Amino acid sequence: MPRRGAARVRSYLPAYHLEAPRDLSDALERMAREPGVWQPFAGGTDLMVLLEAGKLAHRDFLSIWNIPELSGIEIAGEYAFLGALTTYTEIRGHSALAREFLLLCRAAAETGGMATQNRGTIGGNIANASPAADTPPALVVYDAELELVSAKGSRWVPYRGFHSGYKEMDLGSDELIRRVRLPRVKAGWKQYYRKVGTRRAQAISKVCFAGAALVESGRIKDVRIALGSVAPTVLRAHETEKILRGEELAQPALELAQNVLGREIAPIDDMRSTARYRLRVAQNLLAEFLEVVAAG
Ligand SMILES: Cc1cc2nc3c(=O)[nH]c(=O)nc-3n(C[C@H](O)[C@H](O)[C@H](O)COP(=O)(O)OP(=O)(O)OC[C@H]3O[C@@H](n4cnc5c(N)ncnc54)[C@H](O)[C@@H]3O)c2cc1C
Repeated sequence: MPRRGAARVRSYLPAYHLEAPRDLSDALERMAREPGVWQPFAGGTDLMVLLEAGKLAHRDFLSIWNIPELSGIEIAGEYAFLGALTTYTEIRGHSALAREFLLLCRAAAETGGMATQNRGTIGGNIANASPAADTPPALVVYDAELELVSAKGSRWVPYRGFHSGYKEMDLGSDELIRRVRLPRVKAGWKQYYRKVGTRRAQAISKVCFAGAALVESGRIKDVRIALGSVAPTVLRAHETEKILRGEELAQPALELAQNVLGREIAPIDDMRSTARYRLRVAQNLLAEFLEVVAAG
């Protein structure tokens, strides 16, 4: 029985076990030998919240924090590569990423506070598979791909479709996300990112919107839109994009697109917001996106 006023420990720490593999192959061999036994532990910003709340069901963890093959940002030729352990602080402080991948840098800057940004990783944000996570809409707009590695080798998968349902993903129990690959943004695309939450930082999104558009002579030549927190997984708004492609940046196209977006998303009521509020905010963000694009 804890003393009055003493902090209550909601998880029994000796029941947990964390090991640090020597390198990537050591980690992958352990995961192959005992599939499902070892869960990766990166920055721990999601896992420690579960531990604190007494809801961390898994017991055996492999700390991947010091594995160099999972780290680093590289921009080479047609692509930018981000190791799975890339933190939000590294993303937002990278000047070349800021020039081309504005959406990702904005998402990183608006994720949690400084402590979370120093420890939280892009790989953890993806594998945690929350529909309210802030980097996924940017990753969808950029057509990101993921490199998944296991003792058997490596495979690249498109990020779109990686999450097949709420907390479901195409990741084997013997696999790690090694890195994220982003095709470089072609010149002329205008980018817009907005997260709506209760507060500016330290708040989970009620709606998160990422968009990019290529405009020529006042018409939308091409457009990409993705939203978080409005469906069981991050959603690419294909139907809304179809309505906008080839249209002039004017009121009739916007109204039609807002109606289509309203049918395309499937927000829910939960502790953070209501479906009705999320629907209206998503439609307003679409309007703001098009205003920003029109203003150049
Ligand atoms: C105070 C606070 C504020 C936050 N604010 C936000 C926010 O605004 N927006 C937001 O999106 N998130 C937010 N988060 C959530 C969290 O910070 C992010 O999801 C973070 O990116 C998780 O990364 P991590 O390295 O800490 O993951 P971990 O906690 O280490 O792991 C998370 C999950 O991913 C798995 N995993 C990690 N790395 C890999 C890998 N390479 N391969 C396979 N599986 C892997 C782990 O096994 C675990 O299931 C917040 C968290 C806190 C504590």
